Amino acid sequence: MTDPVQTLLLPARELSVYANVDVVVAGGGPAGVGAALAAARNGASVLLIEQRGYLGGMATVSQVPAFCPYTDHVKPVIRGIGLEILDDMKQKMEASFQEEWRDELDWVPIDAEVLKRLLDHKVAEAGVKVLYHTFVGHVVQQGGTIEAVVIHNKSGTQAVKAALFIDATSDADLTHLAGGRLVKGGDDGELQPGTMCFVLNNLDRQKFLAGADTHGSDLKHAINKAKSEGRLRVARDWAGISWLNDHTAGFNFGHVFGIDGSNADDLTRGAIEGRALVEHITAWLRESIPGFEHAFLALTGEQIGIRETRRIVGDYIVTADDFLKCRSFPDDIARNAYFIDIHMAKPTSGMTMVHLPPGESHGIPYRALLPVGIDNVIVAGRAISTDRATQGSTRVMPNCFAMGEAAGTAAAILAEQGLRETRAVDIETLQRRLVRQGAWLGDAINERYG
Ligand SMILES: Cc1cc2nc3c(=O)[nH]c(=O)nc-3n(C[C@H](O)[C@H](O)[C@H](O)COP(=O)(O)OP(=O)(O)OC[C@H]3O[C@@H](n4cnc5c(N)ncnc54)[C@H](O)[C@@H]3O)c2cc1C
Repeated sequence: MTDPVQTLLLPARELSVYANVDVVVAGGGPAGVGAALAAARNGASVLLIEQRGYLGGMATVSQVPAFCPYTDHVKPVIRGIGLEILDDMKQKMEASFQEEWRDELDWVPIDAEVLKRLLDHKVAEAGVKVLYHTFVGHVVQQGGTIEAVVIHNKSGTQAVKAALFIDATSDADLTHLAGGRLVKGGDDGELQPGTMCFVLNNLDRQKFLAGADTHGSDLKHAINKAKSEGRLRVARDWAGISWLNDHTAGFNFGHVFGIDGSNADDLTRGAIEGRALVEHITAWLRESIPGFEHAFLALTGEQIGIRETRRIVGDYIVTADDFLKCRSFPDDIARNAYFIDIHMAKPTSGMTMVHLPPGESHGIPYRALLPVGIDNVIVAGRAISTDRATQGSTRVMPNCFAMGEAAGTAAAILAEQGLRETRAVDIETLQRRLVRQGAWLGDAINERYG
């Protein structure tokens, strides 16, 4: 809809300053939560700005129903704040859930309501000031240094000043607004599809698990049969089902193609097409799957789940070769063991999946969080500097917590020293703090600072 010809000049206006803090965190997903908690726990004054009325990002905004693995199948790779949140969430769940998931660190289902309340509590406890229902829409900068962000909410338009800014918007909004270098999707502009995740109630789990057609939890056979008979319109014969109890499950099922999550028209189409697809899928599940006959659609995501948009071009670009060779870097601030998991950009193309051997992981260097040409912004989460293949792996929630924790800790160290330039952080100090906070940066670094 954007008219390439018509423009309108916004008159200059004076804005009141809502706050002046050490660290602004834009975006309250796993990366933003990790960053805000780490920065505040390390003594910085922190304002966390989130456009929704709750934290959690894709897990709560889009009902993504499970945390990807925290382990490399041998040991936990993601520890620190990410693991703390996983453990705390389990503690708040029903006894049956706790029993089932107590010793599990991989694919733990998410109760979005429990997570929302838990994160409210955790940021309050750490002394983070949170501002919900607020969108960061503009930056004020001078020569690569951001002086303030401009925020929009029911109170109007205001400015927030800070020494350091953490871009945890997952679309690299701050970097984009500051004119930083970005790439998006593949060479032909292809993007992973979106998924409207949903929650069904009134299910009979035991009947489902005993169903001959579903072979326990796998819907592959039933999906393929229904597709060949023209009864089900989905591109992939896979459904992620995360059971919260014997009657309620979250679903990551079906794709909406050609959606760019950094484009409002596309997000709108994704919402409408996504809900229509969920209605269709739910009707099929009711008709076809034992145990789902009385399924009640309780909820769809507030926004379609988005897997891929912009990536920053940072001081280092983590590549598939780094992933495959399990490379470590002198400035590692986290490690990743999740597989390359690129969902097909078109209904007719295939998935790309590349696993590392059990026990293996690669490093994520601090430099991959630093957008080229911008002095006081650290990017954490889905939009860090990687090639497209590696983004298909680093993007998952446990990794985002870890990257966020590193970004927040780095920002607090800088603020403590009165510095604003993100490249001035002493890497040894940063790694030592992260290790002492419980992070795992690989045996060599952990033994050095443990
Ligand atoms: C369908 C789907 C299934 C997935 N499955 C899994 C899975 O099973 N397990 C797993 O671990 N990961 C999964 N992922 C990946 C994972 O959910 C995301 O990649 C991850 O949440 C990214 O974390 P983040 O903190 O970078 O950003 P997000 O979780 O996207 O959070 C960003 C936050 O920033 C806010 N925000 C954005 N822009 C602004 C702005 N300008 N101003 C204010 N606020 C802003 C948003 O509202 C949001 O809360 C899945 C993703 C999708 C879409």
